[in-house]
Amino acid sequence: MIKTILVATDGSEHAKKALALASDLGAKYNARLVLVHVLLTNARAETLRTLATRRGLSKDQRDLLENYEIDFHREVAAAGAAVGFVTVPPPRELVKAIGRQIMDRAEKAATKAGVKKVVMHTVEGDPAEAILELAASSKASMIIMGSRGLSDFKGLLLGSISHKVSAQAECTCVTVK
Ligand code: ATP
Ligand code: MG
Repeated sequence: MIKTILVATDGSEHAKKALALASDLGAKYNARLVLVHVLLTNARAETLRTLATRRGLSKDQRDLLENYEIDFHREVAAAGAAVGFVTVPPPRELVKAIGRQIMDRAEKAATKAGVKKVVMHTVEGDPAEAILELAASSKASMIIMGSRGLSDFKGLLLGSISHKVSAQAECTCVTVK
């Protein structure tokens, strides 16, 4: 009955838990796992630093990360603004490199848990739209995602992406706490 499970990961701890559940089910049902990551094109400097495995980055990519942190904090200081309002975007190459690391780690974890077939999609755009489209095109039996993600705003039970996806998904959607 469960043939294809779509797991959405932003590299957060919640998404890791979602992946663990999806991998467990995938291994037991011999289901195909479709992993999706939407590039973190708006991520803050601290978020990227937390997600990156620095030794897995090239020297140029490490420099990009350091320079982005400097630019980001310069803008915070200049604007005197709350960090949430800073708009300086991270370099694309850095976001792609970190996306690759997130997906590599996810693929390894799924394979280690016994999943036989893992398909990976790294895409760009609105995360909820991308997850919904891929769930439909891959005929997913279910979507598994974290209830929250990378945002450190703790007030709400669901993040905006998990809220939109669970409201609009055509298939079963599990949000993992
Ligand atoms: P918000 O982003 O609304 O401020 P948040 O980051 O805590 O809050 P969400 O972004 O909704 O919460 O994250 C919930 C789940 O959605 C994540 O655990 C992950 O499964 C999925 N998700 C979020 N962003 C992405 C992304 N860029 N790519 C893939 N999956 C994502
Ligand atoms: Mg988020």
